[in-house]
Amino acid sequence: MATINQHYWNLKESYLFSEIAHRVNAYQAAHPDAHIIRMGIGDVTLPLPPAVIEAMHKAVDEMAHAETFRGYGPEQGYDFLKDAVKGYYEKKGVELQPDEIFISDGAKSDLGNILDILGLDNTVLVTDPVYPVYVDTNKMSGRSIFFAQATEQNGFLPLPDPHLTADIIYLCSPNNPTGAVYNREQLKMWVDFANQNESILLFDAAYEAFVSEDLPRSIYEIEGAKTCAIEFCSFSKTAGFTGTRCGYTVVPLDLIRQETSLNKLWLRRQTTKFNGVPYIVQRGAAAVFSPEGQKQVQENIDYYRRNAKVITDTLDKLGIWYTGGKNSPYIWLKCPRSMDSWSFFDFLLEKANVVGTPGQGFGQCGEGYFRLTAFSSHELTQKAMDRLYSILR
Ligand code: PLP
Repeated sequence: MATINQHYWNLKESYLFSEIAHRVNAYQAAHPDAHIIRMGIGDVTLPLPPAVIEAMHKAVDEMAHAETFRGYGPEQGYDFLKDAVKGYYEKKGVELQPDEIFISDGAKSDLGNILDILGLDNTVLVTDPVYPVYVDTNKMSGRSIFFAQATEQNGFLPLPDPHLTADIIYLCSPNNPTGAVYNREQLKMWVDFANQNESILLFDAAYEAFVSEDLPRSIYEIEGAKTCAIEFCSFSKTAGFTGTRCGYTVVPLDLIRQETSLNKLWLRRQTTKFNGVPYIVQRGAAAVFSPEGQKQVQENIDYYRRNAKVITDTLDKLGIWYTGGKNSPYIWLKCPRSMDSWSFFDFLLEKANVVGTPGQGFGQCGEGYFRLTAFSSHELTQKAMDRLYSILR
């Protein structure tokens, strides 16, 4: 009899978003005239920038002619895109070799797949609250997971604790769900900690493009990171690729464990199990880095930033504590009137017809907090915040 990977039995049902849908649907059924505004969405709403569309159209035409048709491409991505990513990092003051950059179909896949090249006996440290993918991908392979508590006291940015070491450490900055962003000194502490313990930092930079202040946008801005960190990045939230699918992962050539290059292991893993991102998509992604593309992407990000400001201005007026918003599309607020996360969810749904995400769904430390996102339209964000203000002032 074939057996299954029994670690899957240890996964919890992804209760959060199904429970939200259940409560919203029940409310809508009972109040058919209510205009519910969704402020919990993690997907973008603006379309792909024109420069991306144009590049993809051109690539489609190339596929129509034998002379320009492309079949299987390099598993780790075409040089034109890797060079564009390299140029993007140079602007952040980070020098990368093209061989250190791996193009993928998004950060989520790579965050899960990277575990293929790491030992099953590794211990894992994640923050609480947490992007659930870090937890579930490790549960699927049976690794032991420890939680570093993110709280109001540490600004939802936990720092290394000598009593809480692990072989694999996940950091997400700007953070989903809290919107909090580590500064250079804080990241230096994590890098030093990882190097001392020979741990590996898995640094999720999916929201780096939202950083507007002088805060790090790549772990490699921190000295010593190339001997301990792998970075994951994505075109999803930066350029609207959530449905188009493209991202990149950086595995430095200097990252060695057990006398083995992780870069070489990842190359081996990718060339064995992955056949690359479609040529058309990679052409679109490369256009993100053209001067036109950069301008258009910036306009889209500014649009979401304005939404975030509408949210944070409303919370400021109400005197509600929050993190995020300035350098992140996520705003993580303390539920008013000492409500727990789900009570505030129900309160907001019933009194304002506004939907957000209960912080408790991201971990124990999220209890009493609530996530709003800046990805809605400007008009709906304004309307939702007017309603929030009127029920809480
Ligand atoms: N990492 C974080 C923290 C995210 O919030 C998300 C998506 O919401 C991802 C990764 C996934 O990105 P991608 O669309 O590139 O798979």
